[in-house]
Amino acid sequence: MSGLKKAQTGYLLPEKDCRGYCEPVLVSACFLGIPCRWHGRRAKRRNELLERLKKKYVLVPVCPEQLGGMPTPRSGEYLRGGTGADVLEGRLRIVAPETGADVTDCHIKGAAYTLEIAKVVGACRAYLKGGSPSCDRDGVTGEALRRAGIAVVRVP
Ligand code: SF4
Repeated sequence: MSGLKKAQTGYLLPEKDCRGYCEPVLVSACFLGIPCRWHGRRAKRRNELLERLKKKYVLVPVCPEQLGGMPTPRSGEYLRGGTGADVLEGRLRIVAPETGADVTDCHIKGAAYTLEIAKVVGACRAYLKGGSPSCDRDGVTGEALRRAGIAVVRVP
């Protein structure tokens, strides 16, 4: 079988890439050296993990907070008194500690766009940064992806 998978699956990726691998996975963009973290600096690269993943998968970088419309640099939030599930179900708001701004909607929007990207590329797995209110497995995006059946691996 050749050509795009789209006809059969709705995916937009070629059936196999030029190296013979085909499965796409989402990866927190900051792991790839992109300076998208809240303070505008790069996260420590996870070279060993990335090398291992690159042998098996096509890596699709996502930064849910930027996708949700948040600037870089931005204030560093965390989930106080709950999890991403509480945010998605309206029981918890996320407030930027430095400004007092309610940024809940940005986190929810970022989760929705990340999920959309996962669907567009056909990703069933995501390697996301632990400790982030968005990317953590229990963060807003991590929770949204898991609810959609996507396996989320928390990378510390
Ligand atoms: Fe990295 Fe995720 Fe935070 Fe973006 S939202 S900087 S990808 S941990």
